[in-house]
Amino acid sequence: MIRNVIVIGSGPAGLTAGLYSARANLKPLVIEGLEAGGQLMLTTLVENWPGFRDGIMGPELMGEMRAQAERFGAEIIRGHVTSVDLLSYPYAVTTADGVYRGRALIISTGATARLLGLPSERTLMGHGVSTCATCDGYFFRGKPIAVVGGGDSAMEEAIFLTRFASHVTVVHRRDTLRASKIMQDKAFANPRISFEWNTEIDDITDVGKGEVTGMRLRNRVTGERKALVVEGVFVAIGHTPNTALFTGHIDTDPNGYIITHQGSRTNIPGVFACGDVQDHVYRQAITAAGSGCMAAIDAEKYLEGLPQHLGEAQATT
Ligand code: NAP
Repeated sequence: MIRNVIVIGSGPAGLTAGLYSARANLKPLVIEGLEAGGQLMLTTLVENWPGFRDGIMGPELMGEMRAQAERFGAEIIRGHVTSVDLLSYPYAVTTADGVYRGRALIISTGATARLLGLPSERTLMGHGVSTCATCDGYFFRGKPIAVVGGGDSAMEEAIFLTRFASHVTVVHRRDTLRASKIMQDKAFANPRISFEWNTEIDDITDVGKGEVTGMRLRNRVTGERKALVVEGVFVAIGHTPNTALFTGHIDTDPNGYIITHQGSRTNIPGVFACGDVQDHVYRQAITAAGSGCMAAIDAEKYLEGLPQHLGEAQATT
């Protein structure tokens, strides 16, 4: 079966690309991926998605997006893409269930926030543990919180969070920051930020209560252990763009993010990228959705320009 458009990934970018290309009558195939619904599936209340005055739960928002794309004819299937062949055309996308061929591909595989790997971190995600200060900072007005990490993201989040939190403790595993000098200077100059150096996190409490009440810290140099009372933990130890499938074919920046130009175009004709897999700056659901719309429109234009025998308007079966 040859598809006009295959969308790989089903976060806000992928589902918006699916919606727009379905409404353009391109009958897209959306392959969900391992983390179906993307990072919003790990959040609770989303208050910055326009149109929902009182907010909407992340999984509910993704369920609505999915249903909306399906209503217009997007075919959304479970499946984890194991390989992509960009040397043959139509491009081939392989999952455990088969090989799908598409005239245009939209890559929306997202980026995965790196996590510490503690069971309590996973359990309390969305209940006091967060990987996005812009999304969740507002919930911590007047509360003490911690930011984990020593890079630019951690400093940016710590500085941003001082707008809401009573105090921000940065917990970093070494005694020097990786962040740029200017971000370090800003963080050091902020009276509402303090640092726990050479410190690792043994645990986040309190899983039993279903909310964050503190952290158990361990100094890597002295071995000293102590408890820190916080009501929120922002894990800001970096993101990994999910681009392993495309290594060696699609151009990426030094951090692995796909390079796009003229909207959502990659270095390969007919292959487009949208969402966090190509954006390490904004990383918001709404910007991901916007770029998914761009990718669908760019794919439509690409298909219109194909020679007749390659670009028939409807998917062939
Ligand atoms: P990053 O530079 O890779 O920093 C990650 C930080 O997390 C490091 O301090 C690292 O510690 C720590 N870390 C990693 N794994 C850890 C673990 N398992 N446990 C505890 N700590 C851990 O990531 P980033 O801060 O997200 O930045 C990514 C890129 O985006 C960088 O190029 C950055 O400059 C850029 N960026 C720029 C801005 C800006 O200019 N405004 C804002 C955000 C990001 P170590 O230092 O010990 O390795």
